[in-house]
Amino acid sequence: MTKWVYSFGNGLNEGRAEMRNLLGGKGANLAEMASIGLPVPPGFTITTEVCSAFYDNGRKYPEDLRAQVDAAMQRIEGAMGLRFGDADAPLLVSVRSGARVSMPGMMDTVLNLGLNDETVQGLARSSGDERFAWDSYRRFVQMYGSVVMGVAHHHFEDVLDQFKRTLGVIDDTAITAAQWREVVKAYHEIIHEHTGQEFPSDPQAQLLGAIGAVFGSWMNPRANTYRRLHDIPASWGTAVNVQSMVFGNMGDDCATGVCFTRDPSTGEDVFYGEYLVNAQGEDVVAGIRTPQPMSRARAEEGQHPMETVLPDAYAELLRVRTLLERHYRDMQDIEFTVQRNVLYLLQTRNGKRTAAAALKIAIDMAREGLISKEDAICRVPATSLDQLLHPALDPKADRVQLTRGLPASPGAASGAVVFTAEECEARAARGEDVILVRVETSPEDVHGMHAARGVLTARGGMTSHAAVVARGMGRVCVAGAGSVHIDYATMVMTIDGHSIAEGDWITLDGSTGAVYLGRVATIPPILSDDFNTLMGWADSIRRLGVRANAETPDDAKTACRFGAEGIGLARTEHMFFGPDRIGHVRQMIIADEETVRQRAINALLVFQRDDFVSIFRIMAGLPVTVRLLDPPLHEFLPHAEAEFAEVATALGKTVEEIRARCASLAEANPMLGHRGCRLGLTNPEIYAMQVRAIIEAALQVSDETGKGIVPEIMIPLVATRAELEVARRAAEAEISAVLQERGAALDYRIGTMIELPRAAIQAGEIAHHADFFSFGTNDLTQTTFGLSRDDAGSFLPFYVDHGLLPKDPFVSIDREGVGALVRMGVERGRAAHPGLKLGICGEHGGDPDSIAFFDEVGLDYVSCSPFRVPVARLAAAQAALAHRKENASA
Ligand code: ADP
Ligand code: MG
Ligand code: MG
Repeated sequence: MTKWVYSFGNGLNEGRAEMRNLLGGKGANLAEMASIGLPVPPGFTITTEVCSAFYDNGRKYPEDLRAQVDAAMQRIEGAMGLRFGDADAPLLVSVRSGARVSMPGMMDTVLNLGLNDETVQGLARSSGDERFAWDSYRRFVQMYGSVVMGVAHHHFEDVLDQFKRTLGVIDDTAITAAQWREVVKAYHEIIHEHTGQEFPSDPQAQLLGAIGAVFGSWMNPRANTYRRLHDIPASWGTAVNVQSMVFGNMGDDCATGVCFTRDPSTGEDVFYGEYLVNAQGEDVVAGIRTPQPMSRARAEEGQHPMETVLPDAYAELLRVRTLLERHYRDMQDIEFTVQRNVLYLLQTRNGKRTAAAALKIAIDMAREGLISKEDAICRVPATSLDQLLHPALDPKADRVQLTRGLPASPGAASGAVVFTAEECEARAARGEDVILVRVETSPEDVHGMHAARGVLTARGGMTSHAAVVARGMGRVCVAGAGSVHIDYATMVMTIDGHSIAEGDWITLDGSTGAVYLGRVATIPPILSDDFNTLMGWADSIRRLGVRANAETPDDAKTACRFGAEGIGLARTEHMFFGPDRIGHVRQMIIADEETVRQRAINALLVFQRDDFVSIFRIMAGLPVTVRLLDPPLHEFLPHAEAEFAEVATALGKTVEEIRARCASLAEANPMLGHRGCRLGLTNPEIYAMQVRAIIEAALQVSDETGKGIVPEIMIPLVATRAELEVARRAAEAEISAVLQERGAALDYRIGTMIELPRAAIQAGEIAHHADFFSFGTNDLTQTTFGLSRDDAGSFLPFYVDHGLLPKDPFVSIDREGVGALVRMGVERGRAAHPGLKLGICGEHGGDPDSIAFFDEVGLDYVSCSPFRVPVARLAAAQAALAHRKENASA
């Protein structure tokens, strides 16, 4: 007999935390908490296998499921000393969904299940609190009506709002039993009106209905979309948890709350969270009443911290906090309820956190001895470091503050205000910076939040949907700014007399909660000690070197500041575009007289030498790979009328002549045209000039600093051994000439990009003339797929959405195809030339998944954009640890 149902609580815990695949995250952790002696209301979990069986068998449940559910219900009845459906003292339960990973789009929880017109009387009598009983009943009817029977939420809200307005009350807790009774009646009518069905009064029918709704929601469109976006297989299924109710809405010695064992925003080791007295379920996050802080330390004037209001339950919660952190060895996100001063735990999971918090928590926990250094390195998602490198508001900048909300997710963001997720996405796709402003957010807004720079909400606390989601994705968020009034009809918000329309700019400071008018200037981030500590740990573990792609002094400085161990790619063409150079570049390309052409080249030599001098100085002896000119020449040609005239004057020609010459340089397919070493081989004086500039600069800086500069000269777009052989010979001739003129000696290296499939295949041949290879994975991806990166936008997203490609191959290396060529290049290159140095300088050098691959194939270093350097350092350490683990288990 298959076991479909696992009980927890009251001494029988059939599940454990490790069983999350079978029991879902929520169910597994409820069982785990109960088994370590924490107060968890008894209940049971219906396994994810039931969900799979349900869908595999044409939406039919396994036959013996009903019997197992009945038996588990009887266990709860026994534990609670109550009976389900009992008219005198009814047992009430909650029905909760819970997949392996938490998943918005799944069915919402139904609380107080088991109530009907009769049992509500019993609940009133047994609790001695009629108001409480009817409050519970109206909640149940609303939840069941919307979640299970599909009546839109707002129909119920409208009735309640109308009621409150007539009664002149604001706070739900001020509504009496008799008044709630009226509301319940109205709710029943709404349900009948919208569904043509009666609200089910039979508790057994209610239970089966709610369980069915959870399993049904696994295949609803919202859940399907979420699964697709997050690579969650449909076969996983969801579990259902049925649990006896505890009540936070029984009076002023009752409460419900959500808390984190450490601050999820900063990582500070303080108890953090919100609670509400005399409330139930998600009242705290729903923004109906203003939630209160947990601790006195975090309370402001006029607030009522739980520490003061419910001291016993608070003390108990503090004990639980330590216990749970010790047990799970990670920061926990806890949901709890207090019933008549007694604490109950309803959920725990590893808490979502900002990058800053992840960093601080990892370092602190390692220092506390809770986790190892290696664990700490793996606890911080490498890409999240981006968040820490983001700018903050310039304290000296002028600003007009509009209002202040809660500092829900740190950082600074400016952008145009939009009021819908759709508009947000649309504008972001056009490259605009946008701030999404909502009264509150829901799972439907997540795609818009992702596209936004920041999120501002009028309602909701530090644990509201907006706050939690924004922190998770590293978006700036100011939540619960009460003075923001949004009119969705006119797409205008007003804040204390300021009227701000869609498209107007505002600035958010997610670290203070401030909202400013317009765009406020920012300053670069300050890297914390924790950041440096983690980077130090990562550096001591990683095998891969990390360099940066940089060609300007600013980029080179940033690269050094972020810990780059050299430059893996300095693109010389960027230097050609400077306003003081481009004229000479054009003359060099267009001139037909040798002397004129040489004059232009000589002028460029001076500029190039200066460029390299400043880079070599900044890099202070670290390796610098300079790539000789790569793009097709026509990229540098004039476009504007005035530019044509300028070149014409300089060369003593007519504009028409210049135009004709330029036209003759046009190519049908420039990416595959006259570029890279093809250009250098046919126009040897250009490469000669660049080589001379590099060597002269290296000599100069070596002299200046006494540090031997060892320049690395890189030849692009090589396909054959002969190409590199000839290009190398030419470069070496120029180098000897320079060294002879100067009577100097200098160490240097000459290598090549491997960015064409033929080069990877012929790596064994090419390696004979190379001191190093650098895999140019952008071009290698284009040429391997035969896919132009600039044109891929119109169909790549379709490919990824429809599973034709697992990921965008320009973002994450295609291991099987492009990666196989890299591997081949590595193996053949090294076999022919054992000392060959191997790196990668494509966009993939900053992508953690790709970095793991490059570590695996044994490259010496990756090179990425300066801001990705910390990401790469951490990712390289994580890759090294993952390989260690694999080897240990192999
Ligand atoms: P979600 O997955 O959206 O977090 P939950 O199943 O955790 O949904 O339920 C939401 C809230 O409902 C819980 O945080 C808790 O406050 C309340 N709740 C759920 N089950 C019970 C219960 N048995 N007794 C009291 N409150 C409950
Ligand atoms: Mg929910
Ligand atoms: Mg929950």
